[in-house]
Amino acid sequence: MQLTFLGTSAMVPTKERNHSAVLISYSTEGILIDCGEGTQRQLKIAGIKPSKVTKILISHWHGDHVLGIPGLIQTLAKNEYDRVLEIYGPKGTMERMKNMFRAFSFEDKIETRIHEITKKRFFEGKDFFLEALPLEHGIITLGFSFIEKDKRRIRLDVVRKLGIPDGPLLGKLQSGKSITFKGKKITPEQVTYVVKGKKLSFIADTVPCNNALELAMNSQCPVIMHWSLQ
Ligand SMILES: [Zn+2]
Repeated sequence: MQLTFLGTSAMVPTKERNHSAVLISYSTEGILIDCGEGTQRQLKIAGIKPSKVTKILISHWHGDHVLGIPGLIQTLAKNEYDRVLEIYGPKGTMERMKNMFRAFSFEDKIETRIHEITKKRFFEGKDFFLEALPLEHGIITLGFSFIEKDKRRIRLDVVRKLGIPDGPLLGKLQSGKSITFKGKKITPEQVTYVVKGKKLSFIADTVPCNNALELAMNSQCPVIMHWSLQ
């Protein structure tokens, strides 16, 4: 898992800091949280190909969080992006994306799937969940959590001692199921251990609120930007 901070500035970018964008690279996924103006150049500087982006999570529709989306989509289309770009955002995202596609003349097209987030756990993949909760920022704004699932690992020393061979029996134990080996029942607790998944949280443009706390709870990496105390 790798976290790349592409932009951390507020409304006006500075010489050193770009508009908001953070990329989570995890296995084959590239989850871009917000995509402010200049995000493409930041990806280039970070040595990350734009085609690595598989999902865009939009926290809210202030320009400094979304102005990079049309440019990124144009580049992906030019580069013959061959997957479906999943875009998640708050209520109203569908209409705003439609307006964006109407406003610009996109000569090449990519396939996009737009989702308006209506529940806390809005995505479940093989290895992780994505969650969102509303924050307090004047317009509808979401904070996000990326939650890796716990993984069960085999205790090889114990397995070897018991003589369990590699293959489907170990697979069953790893998926949390008991097996019978040489007439004896073996439970996953005897031969495996659980590695707790990591949690990352992204909270931007809000006053302190309970949902921000809930998102940051038990997070190994709570990313908090533009926390306003007014
Ligand atoms: Zn804002």
